[in-house]
Parts: sequence; C-alpha cells; structure tokens
Amino acid sequence: MKRIVTILFLAMTLLSATGCKQKAKYVFLFIGDGMGFGAVSVTETYLAQTDSTAIGMGKLAFSDFPVMGAAATFSANRQRTDSAAGGSALSAGEKVNNDSICISPEGDTLTSITYKLHDAGYKIGIAATVCIDHATPAAFFGRNCARGNYYEIGSQLADTGFEFFGGGDFNRPYQAQPDCFAKAQDAGYSIAYGREEFAAKKGDGKVIFFQKRDTTHATNQLPTRLERIQRANPDDITLKELVTGAIDVLDNPKGFFVMAEGSMIDWAAHSNDVAGLVNETIDMSDAIEVALEFYKKHPKNTLIVVTADHETGGPACNKPTLSKIRAICEPAGETNVDNYMSGEQNNSDISKMAGIGWTAGSHTADRVPVYAIGAGSEMFSGEMDNTDIPRKICEAMGVEF
Ligand SMILES: [Zn+2]
Repeated sequence: MKRIVTILFLAMTLLSATGCKQKAKYVFLFIGDGMGFGAVSVTETYLAQTDSTAIGMGKLAFSDFPVMGAAATFSANRQRTDSAAGGSALSAGEKVNNDSICISPEGDTLTSITYKLHDAGYKIGIAATVCIDHATPAAFFGRNCARGNYYEIGSQLADTGFEFFGGGDFNRPYQAQPDCFAKAQDAGYSIAYGREEFAAKKGDGKVIFFQKRDTTHATNQLPTRLERIQRANPDDITLKELVTGAIDVLDNPKGFFVMAEGSMIDWAAHSNDVAGLVNETIDMSDAIEVALEFYKKHPKNTLIVVTADHETGGPACNKPTLSKIRAICEPAGETNVDNYMSGEQNNSDISKMAGIGWTAGSHTADRVPVYAIGAGSEMFSGEMDNTDIPRKICEAMGVEF
C-alpha cells in the first residue's frame, strides 16, 4: 500500500512539474556569422583586459548563460558549410548543399521555422547587419538554389507577411521589375530608412527598418562597430537598435520569434582581422543585452539561443600578449581606428603582435558553440547537429516542427 502511495505521489509530482513548466513564447535566435569558440575566446581574452584583473576571461552578454552546447555544421555536400547551407540548417532543420537557401539536394523547397511559427500565430522578426537578402537572413524567409540570386530572394520578402525586417538594405533591388521596394510596398510593408522614419512608421503594421542611405559608406550594410566610431555619424544604426525595434513591433500576448545576425564577424575572420573580429563580436553581444533585458521581464517564457552558422578563420590565443590585445582591439588604442580603417597596418602583423594565430582565411569544419537561457534552454546542452536547433526551439514552444 505504502509503495502504491509513493508511486502515486511521484507520478503526481511529475505531472504537476511538467504541467507547470512554461513554454517559450518569446524566442530570440542570435547567429554570429563565423563566430566559433575561437572568436568568443579571443574576445573574452580582450574583455579581461578592460578591467584590472587582466589575466582571465572577460564576459560577453551570453558568457554566463546556464546552458552550453556545441553544434556540428557540415552541409549536405561539404564538410565545410557556407552561410547559405548553415543558415538553412538552423532555419529549416535539414541539410542542404552549399549555396542553397532552403532547397534540398533533391530540389524540394523546405519550410523554415519562421513560416511554421507564423502559421501558428507568432509574429516574426528578421535582422542582420548586412543586406537583408544575404545568405543567413535569407535562409529565414527565402527559397533559392543560389544565394547570389539577390533580386529573387529580396522579392520573396514581400510574400512572407512577416512583421519585421531590419538590416542594411536590399542588395540588388532594381535588377528586374517590379523592384523589391515596390513589391514590399504593394504587400503592405512600410519601409523606414533610419531611426526617425522607423519611429514614425513602427506602428503601421509590417515594417522594414534599414540603415539611412548615404554616399560615404556601402549602402547595403550597417557600418561596422569600428566604422561607427570613426565616422561618428549620428544616423548610424546598430544591431542592438534593430533588436529593440523588432521587440517594439512584435511584442504581443501570443509571442514572437526573432532571428538576429551579427553578420560581419565572418568577414573580419576571413581577413584574419583581430580588431574587427573582437569588435563585431562585442557588437552582437550588445544586441543580446536587449534580449536579456526582455528575458528578465518575462523569465518563465522567454528563450534566448546564441550560436553560429559556421566557424571562420580558426583564431586562437596562441601566445596572447595581453596588453597588445587591448591596444589593438580598443578603438583608441595603438592600432588606432584611422590606421585600421586605412589598412595601413596589416592584419598578419597585428595578429602576430597580439599573439593571435589563425588556421584559415576561410570557413573551417569546426563545431560551433550554442548558448541558451530561459524556457526550454536545457535542451541545448551537449553535442548536437545544427539541424537540431530549430527543432528544439519548436519543442520549447510547443509547436510541431
Ligand atoms: Zn564566410
């Protein structure tokens, strides 16, 4: 009898525990393009320099997330994925060939997590620091067998009905007619250039928030963190502002999903550029702070996942010269921003000075880190495949994948 009572008690405890467990309804997926374990370590080593302790590891916004795992990134046809296949795996939960955006090797169109969640009633936001039709953001709304078909991918944005898009601009909007702007406007999107226009239009429904156009900068991307410091242009917007804007537009009782990409970590790593790598990683971390603030207000039903589509460059602190890392990565430091921007100091010499080594100028086949906090975060512990990540997010939200 006593045993039966104990079993009943245990069963009831278990039932009530699972019954009480809240599902995630506010979800942030941050993707550091090319942000492997090395990028995080080099940046944390630099951050340790910004306080008095020097030796040790500093903290990014996600460094103390309670759950950490690692994801394999190989694609359907390459051990080293590109951002198209890496983004598609994180979005559609399937391996595709490099260069493909959510099209299977057999030619089938795959369904991204964003469409599944939108159908289930969640609002959707997609943000990146590069053009909105670039491989990673494209994988969350577009379908194309070639990532370079920017006009076609940009045009597909209009048909999604997703509530928020933020980034640099479209990449090739006028390659054919109707152009990407006309298509988006016909579908009911307000297009805002810069924060004033966004403030005026964010209550209009579906909004696209782009960096204000100017002639002194590549118009289809946000300026890098170091560019912003050098330009001191008050019109420059950041990934942090895009995430804040996404929350403004999307926040509603049913919930939302935001994918935000720190896109240019990858470009710095391709160039073996320590200062760029560190500054772009910090830039994405600043955007994650916004999600963390939101999480603190809704801790029971917010989930934040931080990962990468692939590793780039294989940086490591070989023999880190701590004071040099600070001097090099700090905008006002020895490698001052003007010299850095003019390319006067060469990346390989700078890396040697800082004691940072690189294994490649391209993507590597390394696993990438996965950090998680909040509702359902425990599922992101240990080793996993990149295709598991959108499936786990849906499971945390109670939505069938
Ligand atoms: Zn790359």
